[in-house]
Amino acid sequence: MISCIGILTSGGDSPGMNAAIRAVTRTAIFNNIAVKGIMRGYRGLVEGEVSEFHTQDVSNIVQQGGTILKTARCLEFMTVEGRRKAHETMLKEGIDSLVVIGGDGSLTGARIFAEEFNVPIVGIPGTIDNDIFGTDTTLGYDTALNTITEAVDKIRDTASSHERLFFVEVMGRNAGFLALNGAVAAGAEAAIIPEIATEVDQLEELINNGFRKSKNSSIVLVAESDLTGGAMGLAARVKAEYPEYDVRVTILGHIQRGGSPTAADRILASRMGEAAVNALLEGQRNVMIGVRNGELDHVPFAQAIRKIKSIDRNLLNTVKVLSM
Ligand code: ADP
Repeated sequence: MISCIGILTSGGDSPGMNAAIRAVTRTAIFNNIAVKGIMRGYRGLVEGEVSEFHTQDVSNIVQQGGTILKTARCLEFMTVEGRRKAHETMLKEGIDSLVVIGGDGSLTGARIFAEEFNVPIVGIPGTIDNDIFGTDTTLGYDTALNTITEAVDKIRDTASSHERLFFVEVMGRNAGFLALNGAVAAGAEAAIIPEIATEVDQLEELINNGFRKSKNSSIVLVAESDLTGGAMGLAARVKAEYPEYDVRVTILGHIQRGGSPTAADRILASRMGEAAVNALLEGQRNVMIGVRNGELDHVPFAQAIRKIKSIDRNLLNTVKVLSM
């Protein structure tokens, strides 16, 4: 029997987390279940920073970026001792189940904790990187993609006025979803992504394809990653190997994480939040709520964490064809 759900956001923040917190809170209250907000991710659970949430505590947040619960990285939770303290907080607060909103690391922690202390946990994938298996999109990804598109539109004005080659570095950790889809949306000439970094020399391919022959500017989206070398690494290579090109670098950085969530992210967050509570009520545990082809799904943690989500390789071709 579920009678009190604890909710936390962990790892990197992403737009849509607040909409999910609101949905979890309101769905729990709708079902006459208590809900407690846990501050600063697992740190709040370890240190007992918990308060009961009422419906008005989540008023007016559906449109806000970031997370009202704050988020943090918690090294202590990576030890059994830390997790024991977290479990003690749950017992003390009467929290019998958790909804964890976060990325790969947060869901890994959730899985370990759930198994170790027999706690029902449902996860919601919250990361702009979209690098979680078992869900077509993650909370914040659509917003970040829109931010990237808008930023690249602006950079293009300068790029075309000066006939320059621009490397625009976007986030994604070791995944190229933002770079690749951002390149399509912004009409960039290419995306340089980690997924194919060991297969081809993407910079050489770009130059050999004669990317600037018929155009007066070029914008290339680069996924941050040691595998791509990042925008700075690539620019250094261009200066050394192709000195005839006038190259510039823009690193978009944290603007990609912030801002008001798009309608798509708010809707996804609302649906996933409601589904997370319903999943707990149905007796589901150790699953992440995913969305596949528009339908919500329960994805076992083991799959969501261990499996690698692949990029859509057709899109690489789309970028190539459309940049002619
Ligand atoms: P994200 O969730 O965005 O991937 P992190 O990888 O930083 O972010 O993970 C967030 C938090 O999740 C960590 O600070 C830690 O508290 C917890 N966590 C991550 N990996 C583990 C693990 N293997 N065991 C226990 N807790 C973990």
